Amino acid sequence: MKSLYTRIVLTFIGVIVASLIIASIASTLLFREPFAHTLENSLLSNGKQIIQTYRSSAGTELIPFMNNVSIISIYAVQLFDASGNPLLEDRSEPVVPGAERIRHVLSGGVTRNIEHEGRYPMVGLPFQVDGQPYALFVMLKGNELWLQSSKEVNTELLTVFLIGSFLVLAAARSIVKPLLRLRDAAGQMAQGHFDMQLRTNRKDEIGQLNTSFNEMAQELAKLDRMRREFVANVSHEIQSPLTSISGFAKALKQKRMSEESRMHYLTIIEEESERLSRISQNLLRLSSLQHDRHPAQPAAFRLDEQLRKVVIALEPQWSGKEITVELDLEPVTVHADEDQLSQVWTNLLGNSIKFTPVHGRVCIRVYAGGRSAVVRITDNGIGIPEDQRTDIFKPFHKVDKARDRAVSGNGLGLSIVKLIVELHEGEIQADEEPGGGSVFTVKLPLRKG
Ligand code: ADP
Repeated sequence: MKSLYTRIVLTFIGVIVASLIIASIASTLLFREPFAHTLENSLLSNGKQIIQTYRSSAGTELIPFMNNVSIISIYAVQLFDASGNPLLEDRSEPVVPGAERIRHVLSGGVTRNIEHEGRYPMVGLPFQVDGQPYALFVMLKGNELWLQSSKEVNTELLTVFLIGSFLVLAAARSIVKPLLRLRDAAGQMAQGHFDMQLRTNRKDEIGQLNTSFNEMAQELAKLDRMRREFVANVSHEIQSPLTSISGFAKALKQKRMSEESRMHYLTIIEEESERLSRISQNLLRLSSLQHDRHPAQPAAFRLDEQLRKVVIALEPQWSGKEITVELDLEPVTVHADEDQLSQVWTNLLGNSIKFTPVHGRVCIRVYAGGRSAVVRITDNGIGIPEDQRTDIFKPFHKVDKARDRAVSGNGLGLSIVKLIVELHEGEIQADEEPGGGSVFTVKLPLRKG
């Protein structure tokens, strides 16, 4: 009873039944009763005419006269004498007036509306012959025909009802079937099967629902793939430092070992532990950024000053590689989360230093361009191949895995950068410097007013 199919069918049948009832009431009110009334008027005048004719044909016997009228005219006639006995009674007629009506007519009254439903209009007329009262009842013979035609209408309506119900059974099935397929597909997806695609040629709402469902399935499949890749990457990133830690720890167990080798192994263990710690910190940061929809604590601050501070903080790294850092900082104030943006510049500048050889050059420029604050970090390092300039922003993506291992990256830095920039409704882009090397451009919206 609760299925959509049953509901559609029952609703349709209900609508048809209600329409039929309303139609039959309306037809009775609008046609049958007024029709019966008009017919009665005509019966009355014709009844009077019959009596008139009988009176004017002197010497004619009453009963044979009335009998003839009954036979040759379209009227069925019934005649009753002063004591209410039938003188002429046509047994084939469906309505016989009651004793009270006959008495009423005999006492001189005209009666109409004898049968309430108005199906067999009949009138009663009084008249006298030789001082004797008689009651004449007149009705239309062809009335049967009229009833027959109304039976036909009823049969037609019933046929419409039956055929309509049958067709709606079929139509409802075609409406409900694609919904059932969708339900099954959604059930499959709930169990983790995201590679679902529903085929349809329909362009209506159900077709659109199918298309949206397919898009949703594709998106979920993509997310699922990304999740699997992410887990695999995390495991891989964690696995390699753990393998070296456990390997060097085993080596350290050997008693005979020079102090120099021991220090070397311990240094590696220390570095790999720090690497693990960096990975877990970055993962935590990534996850918290993905779940905080808005900048944590936005405040107005000078971007040029922040960049200067980051450069100073990273001094040991760039001066260690004897890299020249050029600054071109216009005073620009932004409204953003200071800590998060500091992370952005640290990661970008850290990368530039990491991927630029000794004696290289890194330029940092900030200026207000239109409605945005623009920060460009340029280096003359190894650059990023064109086909990877969007992928580098995905978690764990490294241009050259072997190369990056040597510079101890984990491929999460740029993902964090991108998330922070997007949380600030800004954009980031990686390009190539004309003379080789990379340039990262970050645009952040400037506060209106
Ligand atoms: P990582 O911790 O490996 O640096 P990132 O997400 O910061 O991770 O960067 C992803 C990759 O993008 C790096 O491994 C590197 O291959 C490439 N990359 C990022 N910045 C630069 C740059 N300035 N020059 C050349 N390659 C870069």
